[in-house]
Amino acid sequence: MRSFADAEVSVRITVFLGAPGSGKGTQAKMLSQRERFVHLSTGDILRNAIKEGTALGKEAKTFMDKGELVPDSTMIGLIKDTLSQLKPNQHVILDGFPRTVAQAEALNTNSDTHVDQAILFEIADSLLIERLTGRRVCKQCGQPFHTKHIRPKQDGVCDQCGGEVVQRSDDHEDVVRRRLEIFHAQNKGLVDYYAKKQNLRRINVDQPADSVQQILMELLK
Ligand code: AMP
Repeated sequence: MRSFADAEVSVRITVFLGAPGSGKGTQAKMLSQRERFVHLSTGDILRNAIKEGTALGKEAKTFMDKGELVPDSTMIGLIKDTLSQLKPNQHVILDGFPRTVAQAEALNTNSDTHVDQAILFEIADSLLIERLTGRRVCKQCGQPFHTKHIRPKQDGVCDQCGGEVVQRSDDHEDVVRRRLEIFHAQNKGLVDYYAKKQNLRRINVDQPADSVQQILMELLK
């Protein structure tokens, strides 16, 4: 039986914590493009399931459209299944999981993985609302854009893959506000959990993406 202690076979995990729009996905994507990290976003997995019309997608959509969390039992099963398919010694950046203490506990007791550190992305809510409601993403490759700050060269077309650039249905303002409310309700418990059990680091992410990336590269060395 494989265990945490068996560093040879366990998958290493860095957890990114932070509000929706704090840049976890953007930073994880940048890291995985330049280094060996595997970027796993539970939000992306669920959006793919919705696109494919699977049972998981149908269940998730009812929660996601309202900005609510998908139930822990579904998410824990999903993440265990996803992690079990990875090769030993891979270094995974988990973006969007855990969202609750129950999810953090499940990750902690998963025998094939080890959480090295949790990194908290800190930023004021007022900035997040502007970031999220202006956010656009490529439907095909997930590349993020913004109506004011990072516009695609050609309107509505992804610079990376030529896919269609759209607004996520949960980036509309009423849903954004609900997502932030839920984030604050859950986050304190998670931060306390990692502060006690694991290695919690904090980054002020109200700075250019390249500067945040440099700090992350140092933390992930
Ligand atoms: P994200 O792309 O991480 O902002 O996630 C988008 C939505 O997917 C969230 O608002 C939730 O509805 C759902 N979701 C993603 N990850 C989780 C999770 N770990 N637990 C519960 N729901 C999740």
